[in-house]
Amino acid sequence: MKIAVLGTGTVGPALAEALDALGHDVVIGTRDPRATVARTEPGATGGAPFAAWHAAHSRIDVVTLADAAAGADVVVNATNGASSLEALTTAGAENLSGKVLMDVANPLDFSQGFPPSLNPVNTDSLGEQIQHAFPEARVVKTLNTMTASVMVDPASVAGGEHSVFISGNDADAKETVRGLLRELGHRDIIDLGDISTARGAEMILPLWLRVWGALGTGAFNFKVAR
Ligand code: NAP
Repeated sequence: MKIAVLGTGTVGPALAEALDALGHDVVIGTRDPRATVARTEPGATGGAPFAAWHAAHSRIDVVTLADAAAGADVVVNATNGASSLEALTTAGAENLSGKVLMDVANPLDFSQGFPPSLNPVNTDSLGEQIQHAFPEARVVKTLNTMTASVMVDPASVAGGEHSVFISGNDADAKETVRGLLRELGHRDIIDLGDISTARGAEMILPLWLRVWGALGTGAFNFKVAR
């Protein structure tokens, strides 16, 4: 499958690497490809600088947001949640039309410091805002409830015995995402319903952040026991 991963933080490279290893045809999208591949500062969470990551994964092309989305069957939104609508607008509505848009972003608002709040929240969600802004895209919210390393290697936590959620309006798009999640090793995939259910998935974040603070590690996940 041709997959465009929009995002060069922690999540984008992790998902791109994992999906490439699974045999997909993956590109990374960024605002300024030349500047991004020249980045030598460490990632926000202390990960390898993008230049070093790219040197080790040179077959994954780094292109503009629009070029990445234009050639893809599936587009992954792994951009900063506060800027996702801007990033997707730059990618181009015409390049997202008809595509499965797998949204892993969280609308974290750091304007009042840490811990961040969510914006939007309660009666709206980033997933819904993206679907509203790009009505021809088939948005599926998923994977936003766990750290990047767990997204791509769920077995690293409790042998993979934990849950991942999907929300979206398009049944076929959700089936495509379900397939990708299974390929990544996720087994307990819970379909919450239409895209408005992304509110619930996004509102896990305040709890996720507190568990992270309590445990001192992001290497955990939530399990819906039943
Ligand atoms: P991040 O630092 O939140 O986002 C980096 C990406 O956002 C870069 O690709 C950057 O584009 C893009 N970006 C920033 N400002 C922009 C703007 N004004 N216009 C367009 N694009 C802009 O990276 P992250 O930690 O990998 O997180 C990615 C998303 O996944 C976030 O929404 C986050 O909440 C969510 N998430 C993260 C984790 C995690 O483990 N870190 C886990 C679950 C969910 P350039 O490439 O052009 O610089």
